[in-house]
Amino acid sequence: MDAVIDKVKEIAIGRDEKKEDAAPAPAAPAANGAPAEKKEKKVKAPKEKKVKEGEAPKYPLEMNPPPEYIPHRIQMFEELKAKYDEECKHQPREPILITLPDGSTKVGTSWETSPMDIAKEISKGLAEKVVIAEVDEVMWDLERPLEKSCNLVLHDFDSPKGKRVFWHSSAHVLGEAAERHYGCHLCIGPPTDEGFFYEMAIEDRAVAQGDYPALESIAQSAIKEKQPFERLIVSKENLLKMFSHNKYKQHIIKDKIPDGTSTTVYRCGPLIDLCVGPHVPHTGRIKSFAVMKNSSSYFLGNAENDSLQRIYGISFPDNKAMKEYKVFLAEAAKRDHRKIGKEQELFFFHELSPGSCFFLPHGARIYNTLQNLMKVEYQKRGFQEVMTPNMYNVKLWEQSGHWQNYQENMFSFDVEKERFGLKPMNCPGHCLMFKLRDRSYRELPLRLADFGVIHRNEFSGSLTGLTRVRRFQQDDAHIFCTVDQIGQEITACFDFLKCVYGIFGFTFKLELSTRPEKYLGDIETWNAAEKKLEDALNAWGGPWELNPADGAFYGPKIDITISDALKRQHQCATIQLDFQLPQRFELEYHTGAEVKENDAEKSQFARPVMIHRAILGSLERMIAILTEHYAGRWPFWLSPRQVAIIPVSKSFDAYAQEVHDKLHAHSFFAETDLSGDTLQKKVRNAQLAQYNFIFIVGAEEAEQRSVNVRNRDDQNKQSRGETIGLDAAIEKLLSLREEKRLVNEM
Ligand SMILES: [Zn+2]
Ligand SMILES: [Zn+2]
Repeated sequence: MDAVIDKVKEIAIGRDEKKEDAAPAPAAPAANGAPAEKKEKKVKAPKEKKVKEGEAPKYPLEMNPPPEYIPHRIQMFEELKAKYDEECKHQPREPILITLPDGSTKVGTSWETSPMDIAKEISKGLAEKVVIAEVDEVMWDLERPLEKSCNLVLHDFDSPKGKRVFWHSSAHVLGEAAERHYGCHLCIGPPTDEGFFYEMAIEDRAVAQGDYPALESIAQSAIKEKQPFERLIVSKENLLKMFSHNKYKQHIIKDKIPDGTSTTVYRCGPLIDLCVGPHVPHTGRIKSFAVMKNSSSYFLGNAENDSLQRIYGISFPDNKAMKEYKVFLAEAAKRDHRKIGKEQELFFFHELSPGSCFFLPHGARIYNTLQNLMKVEYQKRGFQEVMTPNMYNVKLWEQSGHWQNYQENMFSFDVEKERFGLKPMNCPGHCLMFKLRDRSYRELPLRLADFGVIHRNEFSGSLTGLTRVRRFQQDDAHIFCTVDQIGQEITACFDFLKCVYGIFGFTFKLELSTRPEKYLGDIETWNAAEKKLEDALNAWGGPWELNPADGAFYGPKIDITISDALKRQHQCATIQLDFQLPQRFELEYHTGAEVKENDAEKSQFARPVMIHRAILGSLERMIAILTEHYAGRWPFWLSPRQVAIIPVSKSFDAYAQEVHDKLHAHSFFAETDLSGDTLQKKVRNAQLAQYNFIFIVGAEEAEQRSVNVRNRDDQNKQSRGETIGLDAAIEKLLSLREEKRLVNEM
């Protein structure tokens, strides 16, 4: 039975839709050069049906009578459940041993003792908090009896697995509410990174925001009833009968469940749904439930299929968490980089080039400052900057493997009857550079850095601000080194990370992903490389985790996750070892070893290892993250508006201009407001534009060659600043910029 259920894991409401939904995914797998896995088929979302306000007819809270399919399903469920319960009664009752993660054991009875019994035995608090069980690495309903001796792990909402089950269970409640309110036909309802959704077909109406209270109210009553999630195994034949009313479920059953086998359905209240589970014990566990938004989609994501509607929700095990979540959403909306980018005139997008950003003068300043930061560090750390082409003959991509595995993410076109592609990554170009001439071990490690422009063909509907774009640049670099040099290079990468993320004020954690089952290259190289990565991780002093067997087939990698001011996690940098590309491009270096001519065993040449690494990752995406991290209040060194100079009246315009020119000579971003606005208005405008400092100049300042300084982040000096000599002020600004201090203080 389990094998059959395994086969249908990806179907029905439990299907994980993470990939195409939820939080915007990184614009790019940061630095990894080898082709990523194929993406899902790109499909346009249908236009939303519009219902004019005021014209929307009044609908009752619930369908009365309820849709016919509800009593039909319940009747079938009850008959089959009675039979199934009878069968379970005859299963053997034997003593079993349940082993907990700490190694301790509990004794139980097969087909009787459930994970919930064990939780209760441990403590009442645990039994109330636990969301789901994991039995021998299979997710298991808490109330479902254990069948044999096993290992048992209990998850609460705070664990990622517990959260997914909690949100997945909440999707059933949303489905129940939708059936009761719309009489709709449900399709799929998976958890996402931030909540869950349910997708459905509604014959005669479009989901409107005005429906949310009704859906929430029905969900509340379902929650209040503490409807248990009841599990039942049903044969394909009976499933087709049970869901005879629903052509989408019919399609899924026919498509995914082999003839003569069965899968499970779950019931909560009037809803019986095709689902592999598992779920929370009952709906009462969901203490707080909200409908967040709705959108349109197509059945199975295919534009040729029926157009469907999606409703998104969020839920928590307590009200406090929901309140905190709403505060977080409001704060995130305030910091949205698209909003701040517009207010501060940093960048914009145009429909004539979707996904390719226009950086306005002030946005370009940020872009260049970030690049310059890296350039200075490259100089110190032995990286050499190179420039490589944007388009290559497809032959290059065939050699690198991108054409076979990554083609649909590339823009390609014909030039003089040959196929060309815009580069989605810099690595193959760097391999050509390595191969230009004979290389000696003395040249290694060779660290090539490239800010090259990269294009990836993202579906236009998935483009979101700077977080998912078609055109971007990375602080990309490739280190060609010997196996022996891996350790030192990785340690140097960590030092680089610490330096750059320290400047931004990010904390970060590291994860090592090791050799997967299917891998390329010889096992000794893998073992040596992994050992060196582990040693480097142990030496760096911060927290790190191990993801066994989660590396790419072409090499182990280290994932770096940063945490921003709102404690959101972002993955910008990746350190990826690559044994494949050097092989595909037949890269080698002269080892300097003395080899006699007739010694066939030994070679004078060896293959280098390639390390893909980026710290900022995509500059576009990093600018989005930094904008939101600082909420648009840029630290001085990175600020596109450092000083505003405001003369108190027209008579001091000349001195204001003089101050401006002096600042300009030191490459500060200073602007003078010579408009006809009042002093008060000018100050207000400069404050809104988030200038780090406002220099006000009048008679006294012109006379003494000084400036009256107002500090953006010092409320006490907003109305009355501090007067300092102009040269002294410039000295202070120089050191503030040089030291890249986060605190805005002269
Ligand atoms: Zn690369
Ligand atoms: Zn389910």
